[in-house]
Amino acid sequence: MSLQLAIIGSGLAGLAAARILREHHEVTVYERGGPDAATGGQGICLFSNGIKILQTMGFDRDRAGAVPCHGYRTFDKDGKLVKDFPVDFKGKYGADTMAMKRSDFRDELLRLATAPSESWPDEGLVVFKDSSTIQADVVIVADGVHSRLRHRIVDSSYQPKKNGMTCYRVAISAEAVKAALGYLPESWDPRTADSRISTLMAGDGSRRTVTAYPLRNYDYMSFSCLFPGRQDRGNVLESWYADGDRQEMVDTFNDFSYPLRKILDIATEVKVWELQDLDPLPRWNKGRTILIGDAAHAMTPMQGQGSNMAVEDADSFRLLRPGLTREEVEGVLKQVDSIRRPRTARVLGDTRAMAKGISMDEMIANLDFNCGYNGVFEALKRME
Ligand SMILES: Cc1cc2nc3c(=O)[nH]c(=O)nc-3n(C[C@H](O)[C@H](O)[C@H](O)COP(=O)(O)OP(=O)(O)OC[C@H]3O[C@@H](n4cnc5c(N)ncnc54)[C@H](O)[C@@H]3O)c2cc1C
Repeated sequence: MSLQLAIIGSGLAGLAAARILREHHEVTVYERGGPDAATGGQGICLFSNGIKILQTMGFDRDRAGAVPCHGYRTFDKDGKLVKDFPVDFKGKYGADTMAMKRSDFRDELLRLATAPSESWPDEGLVVFKDSSTIQADVVIVADGVHSRLRHRIVDSSYQPKKNGMTCYRVAISAEAVKAALGYLPESWDPRTADSRISTLMAGDGSRRTVTAYPLRNYDYMSFSCLFPGRQDRGNVLESWYADGDRQEMVDTFNDFSYPLRKILDIATEVKVWELQDLDPLPRWNKGRTILIGDAAHAMTPMQGQGSNMAVEDADSFRLLRPGLTREEVEGVLKQVDSIRRPRTARVLGDTRAMAKGISMDEMIANLDFNCGYNGVFEALKRME
């Protein structure tokens, strides 16, 4: 007997969960946006923990144009190398860490979720804006950081809080950069970049950093430009698609190295995000309904773990095994909650600590904790 599942939200968490669950159950994904929902074209980095799970779902790295990253390099704002920190992600954690265009990753998840394959929270009743309803055995709420449904599970005091930092995000093509500069910077040219994630740091106490990693086989580079946001900032749209003020980005980093300034200057699609996260929730599930993804554990991108946690959440639905009865659902959702909630709370805590500055040893310990995860069955065994 298969269960009827409703997933609210077709972002990264919702689609990954749909991919896992459609193997044995009937899954419908509900999305309030249009076909272009959640398709902002900037970069996203999936670490070994997320990639190990994605590989079990049939993830095709070539379709997603995924570029493996083999460590980190930090530079000063003039572009001088400060530290090289190679990491053998595959050797150490069992899978590569890879960077992708967010839109390519979401397209690949959509393919995986839909390709042919081998009061209401307690009852599984979902009421839509037009008053129509659906009844499901399980309702998965994956509607992102500004979840409208979170308050059905926990009280409405749990809201995301800004941490005072602003992030401008751009993805720029190699073609455009070659046209503007006449060459590709060393940290971008595949012959010299050594697959590192590069970070340029202002080093003057202003907390300005620019992190770059390659996308689509080096045809694009993602730049995340982080700085303390202005207090007098007006109304900023809080979505993946909020357009940023290119001039503000250029002005904020106008003392960085010439190639970087030039690159930011020619950026066409500039997105802005006010960094925010969510305090750990006291529970994720109520009856037949469960929160996942940013709706359950939004965190800032300092460790690049947000969507990796969403993929891990999706993997935990393997516990909704074939033949499970409607009556058994609540117990399984409680189990998912007890496995996932403590882990995401720890990753959130580490991410907050990282924003304040941590030592290299602490960073390695975080990588071990994050990338050492091997899926829900191993996590369950450890708990037992
Ligand atoms: C600047 C920045 C950089 C990041 N970089 C990384 C990174 O490198 N690596 C990483 O792992 N993570 C990264 N993250 C975090 C990652 O992007 C998120 O954790 C991830 O997108 C969460 O996925 P989600 O599906 O929960 O939410 P979303 O991707 O936001 O999707 C939510 C979906 O639900 C839909 N929806 C909303 N409300 C409703 C409703 N009422 N009914 C129906 N549908 C609804 C929305 O339209 C959307 O499609 C970054 C985040 C930021 C801000």
